Amino acid sequence: MKPTIDYIREHFELYNRMMFGGTLTVPPIHLTNARTYMGMLTYKRRVGLFGGKRFSDFALRISRRFDYSEAELQDTLIHEMIHYYIAVNQLKDGSTHGPLFRQMMEDINHQYGRHITVSHRSSHEERLQLLGSQPRPRVFAIMQMADGKYCIKVVPRIVERVRTMHRRLTMDPQVRTVNWYFSTDPFFALYPSSMGRRMQYVDIEEVRAHLVAATPITDLTAI
Ligand SMILES: [Zn+2]
Repeated sequence: MKPTIDYIREHFELYNRMMFGGTLTVPPIHLTNARTYMGMLTYKRRVGLFGGKRFSDFALRISRRFDYSEAELQDTLIHEMIHYYIAVNQLKDGSTHGPLFRQMMEDINHQYGRHITVSHRSSHEERLQLLGSQPRPRVFAIMQMADGKYCIKVVPRIVERVRTMHRRLTMDPQVRTVNWYFSTDPFFALYPSSMGRRMQYVDIEEVRAHLVAATPITDLTAI
């Protein structure tokens, strides 16, 4: 079946009452075309003055790209709801799918006859987990290429380097458009920062989900 916003919202509310004591509020729900995940919870992480962490701007993303059975879609939603519960309550867990996550997952599977897993999760989520939740400042360009596909180039956060790379990219006949951004989202730390020639192709749907919270750099003379 293909997920719809209404279906996800209704089931979110149902499972919230059933499994999470009705404590969760429905976050904005987005349907995406991502290949790299079925579901993903995104949020901003800020480190406070005295080191405390503040999480905000939660959003739930479900990819339309997969052919789900109804039970799979429901399990994907509940999987993300466990992440959400742990994050909003700032509960400590060893890793993205640490002991607490697994305990909650097993309790729910046992009590409600579900089959939620962590095994089919994409390696992308696992890589994000390794980075932890520290903000990682990154300056990067998103390019649309002559073939219509998109690439990313992360560069060191030094004004001259950014300008140099901008000149290089705008003169490259393979590059159609160049847009610069600043973000502390660990997602962008997955891409190596360098002045090398190599650009990496990206799944633009997936990147857009993270660009929402990034700051566009419109004036390269102002950085
Ligand atoms: Zn997960």
